[in-house]
Amino acid sequence: MKNLKIAIQKSGRLNEKSVQLLKNCGLDFENYKSSLITTVNNFNLEILFLRDDDIPGYVAQGIADLGIVGENVIDESQEKVTYLERLGFGRCTLKIGIPKDSDIQQLQDLQGKAIATTYPNILQEFLAEHNLSAEIQQISGSVEIAPGLGLSDAICDIVSTGGTLKSNGLKPFADVRRSEAILIGREGLTENPILCELLQRVRSVLRAKE
Ligand code: ATP
Ligand code: ZN
Repeated sequence: MKNLKIAIQKSGRLNEKSVQLLKNCGLDFENYKSSLITTVNNFNLEILFLRDDDIPGYVAQGIADLGIVGENVIDESQEKVTYLERLGFGRCTLKIGIPKDSDIQQLQDLQGKAIATTYPNILQEFLAEHNLSAEIQQISGSVEIAPGLGLSDAICDIVSTGGTLKSNGLKPFADVRRSEAILIGREGLTENPILCELLQRVRSVLRAKE
């Protein structure tokens, strides 16, 4: 039977826990060093090591059958994939942050304001849900410096402890969406014996953790 392919983050916040989950499932393989693809020695599975942003697209296109990636990245990508399991790690919240001395006090005050983010699609959806329109400034990183530079009135970014916000003179203002790592599958992925076995192992590892 053909090997299944699973895409995981090659380095970054989700790499270690993704690798650990698969190892806890009894899979024997080497973590990412330089090869972007590795074969599991004792299971019909290949692991692709990718940038997290590329994972939903690879899975949606069927290049990978499965993937492990943050919900924030799935939503932002707008790719169609199937949620197979919530994995309970990589928890974070996408929030709107504002300068400490901002006159923004309620959500309605965001109307017409400039908001810098690397998540334009999720932010746009959030604004639409609240009947707001704002000027979304899409930037590719270091979003927290935008208000201080006069580029925006607010930001929308992932916040875990709030330390980065604070050290840039910002404070959390509103929660946009929560996120955790998700095991996703391509649409139309039919249950085959390898997938069933893998899902069963993943679920028992997760259950043992509860
Ligand atoms: P890549 O090089 O793969 O594109 P990245 O820099 O975009 O990596 P990471 O910072 O490694 O991404 O974060 C990966 C995911 O971890 C995020 O998309 C999010 O789902 C989750 N996450 C959990 N906590 C945090 C946090 N404090 N900051 C950012 N992401 C977090
Ligand atoms: Zn990324």
